[in-house]
Amino acid sequence: MSEKKKLTTASGRPYVENEDSLTVGRRGPILLEDYVLHEKMAHFNRERIPERVVHAKGSGAFGTFTVTHDITKYTKAKMFSTVGKKTDMLARFSTVGGEKGSADTERDPRGFALKFYTEDGNWDLVGNNTPVFFVKDPKKFSDFIHTQKRHPFTNMKSPTMMWDFWSLNPESLHQVLILMSDRGTPFGYRHMNGYGSHTYSLINANNERHYVKFHFKTDQGIKNFNDAEATKMKGENPDFAQQDLIEHIENGNYPKWNLKIQVMTEEEARNYKWNPFDLSKVWPHGDFPLIDVGVMELNKNADNYFAQIEQSAFAPAHIVDGVGYSPDKMLQGRLLSYPDAHRYRLGVNYEQIPVNRCPYAVNNYERDGFMRVDGNQGRAENYFPNSFDDIKVDEDYKLKSPEVNDASADWYDRNSAAANENDHYTQPGNLYRIMSDQAKTNLINNTVGAMSGIEGPKKEEITKRQLAHWYKADEELGRRIAEGLGVNM
Ligand code: NDP
Repeated sequence: MSEKKKLTTASGRPYVENEDSLTVGRRGPILLEDYVLHEKMAHFNRERIPERVVHAKGSGAFGTFTVTHDITKYTKAKMFSTVGKKTDMLARFSTVGGEKGSADTERDPRGFALKFYTEDGNWDLVGNNTPVFFVKDPKKFSDFIHTQKRHPFTNMKSPTMMWDFWSLNPESLHQVLILMSDRGTPFGYRHMNGYGSHTYSLINANNERHYVKFHFKTDQGIKNFNDAEATKMKGENPDFAQQDLIEHIENGNYPKWNLKIQVMTEEEARNYKWNPFDLSKVWPHGDFPLIDVGVMELNKNADNYFAQIEQSAFAPAHIVDGVGYSPDKMLQGRLLSYPDAHRYRLGVNYEQIPVNRCPYAVNNYERDGFMRVDGNQGRAENYFPNSFDDIKVDEDYKLKSPEVNDASADWYDRNSAAANENDHYTQPGNLYRIMSDQAKTNLINNTVGAMSGIEGPKKEEITKRQLAHWYKADEELGRRIAEGLGVNM
């Protein structure tokens, strides 16, 4: 039999006195020298790290991505180099607005964050279960998220501030419609699609760029709670989605998603009727059909939630050779804000935490900082260029420069009518019109229920402003929501 491990302090001293403190007499006070007591209490006090401002409540698992179709005419990314190629990966799913302990059945978009551990570095595709978003300029993001959080006075969620913001920002209508449909309350994380949401680019071996949208279609089939079921589940099991994911993987029922892409040439991007970099719009499948790429399977639970899921850090800035950004303003904002959030939450060396660390090579001249725990590149020089080390800049990895069509800088109105950027209605209307009768009825009931929460002196103004948006998307939709609310338009 192997020798049992000894109980030790954090500095490795074996000790015995784990449950009783050192006191003066049986009934007397505690002596200051009981260091084990200090260490236990002090470490406990420091267990929590800042929770994510958004996407705090989440679940994750490890898996494998396998290429099933050749897309090398679009990308030179090594991960897609051959059919059959497998890449290790991590996925983290989440709600957006709630705190870390909130229910994961809330009506909310779901985060769909992926990290692929490729030979050319970790590629993070940090999307949602919806193809669009509420705002299309990152300057609006903090204002929007404040409306999803707690009111500064009541410290409660406030339907009034949510609908006030949405009704004043009609670009949100497409995402709000999806949120109010039953896809706003998915049955856990296995039964929902994932979308890269932003437009990205792919670069091929000839250095040609195509713009691309990523779609991960659930192999389990779409399944949602209706509003009443979700509300019930929030009370019965606030960790429903966490339990559902961990148990299915533990039992060998590995969830899968099929990766498909839509592709647009640079020429098409210049001429398409809608701005292809506008995050409030999709690319209709009829114009840009889905192309099969591969399959992602989640097949291994994290052994330790804090180490591997709470500390996991995804950033859209983390691309790899063969994948590039686009001028999508929200993506551009996230390139800055995600690494910034991780440096605040986990520290400047967050990419050394094992779950975030590239398992292949990392060579650079970044040194020191809090929690540098990887040897800090030892004796190697910490400046570039130098005459000593053997780190080479490989010109094969030169990025393709971004395409810029307009050389004049300004604070352009993202919803300008003159630039044809103010059609907030056609695509939500299209979605409503392809819904089944039951899906339409659920959408309307969910919306009526949510808008019924608007209260206070601006109730009528906010309600009518939002109703006008529903009408503009689809006359029947607007009428039925107005009827449900008892409002005469
Ligand atoms: P299609 O009929 O080809 O596609 C409709 C899409 O809508 C499918 O991808 C379907 O997903 C998805 N869908 C169905 N119900 C919902 C819902 N409640 N919330 C979100 N998505 C839903 O039509 P188009 O491509 O012409 O698009 C029509 C409308 O569909 C768009 O205006 C947009 O609102 C929505 N949509 C389009 C997507 C796109 O990339 N083109 C992606 C997602 C939504 P699934 O097949 O998995 O059931």
